[in-house]
Amino acid sequence: MKRKKIVAGNWKMNCNREEALSLATEIAGMVRDEKHNETTVMIAPPFVHLASVAHLVKPDGILVAAQNCAYEPSGAFTGEVSAGMLSSAGASAVIIGHSERRQYFHENDELLLKKVQLAISNQLQPLFCIGELLPDREAGRHFDTVMSQLLNCVFKLDRESFTKLVIAYEPVWAIGTGKTATSQQAQEMHAYIRKLIAEYYDSELADGISILYGGSCNENNAKELFSMPDVDGGLIGGASLKSRSFMNIINSF
Ligand code: PEP
Repeated sequence: MKRKKIVAGNWKMNCNREEALSLATEIAGMVRDEKHNETTVMIAPPFVHLASVAHLVKPDGILVAAQNCAYEPSGAFTGEVSAGMLSSAGASAVIIGHSERRQYFHENDELLLKKVQLAISNQLQPLFCIGELLPDREAGRHFDTVMSQLLNCVFKLDRESFTKLVIAYEPVWAIGTGKTATSQQAQEMHAYIRKLIAEYYDSELADGISILYGGSCNENNAKELFSMPDVDGGLIGGASLKSRSFMNIINSF
């Protein structure tokens, strides 16, 4: 089964309006002129720029993702943005469970499951992030950590809902550190995740789901990472803020 290849850029809390529109315009132009493959391209700007960026890039087939969504559908939750609002603003996906959300905003499995369910019911594809901390890796607990992040959250979904997900494996020690997982480490974990999905659901679902790697992926290492059989693309932080680097990553397949 042919899985979707995806390169998604997570802009995090960067770019004022002018910078966001100019980065989006550059990326759209490069994708239009230079994309040589079938890779799905996504960008995740901050909420406040989402609608304008979506309007700008959609003609070039680029999808827009939000970086987060609320865990309730609506109501008295000052400062929150619901999945329904994001969908109506032009988003087609949402990053859920990023390690920065888990770490700084104390998001746990139960809350993340609510977000995933709301995303799905509002036609947003969840890019669900999992990955171990450095002490887990050093103690050889990385497989167990990833298993429990799946078991206690998205493995509670029914099969139909699970088919909507993209999984992003992001070892926390590799995010924003310049320390990338080796292609062997990435492949080993992606294969493990796929095996768990096959055991929990079935092999057809496991073979069809895209599993992205994230963590200091850049234009110099993307080719090698993406050549691994179970790596279906990347969730890119820092390198997605430079249009040239991001485009080179897109063309690394
Ligand atoms: C991320 O934030 O998802 C990420 C992978 O960041 P970076 O590429 O900067 O490590």
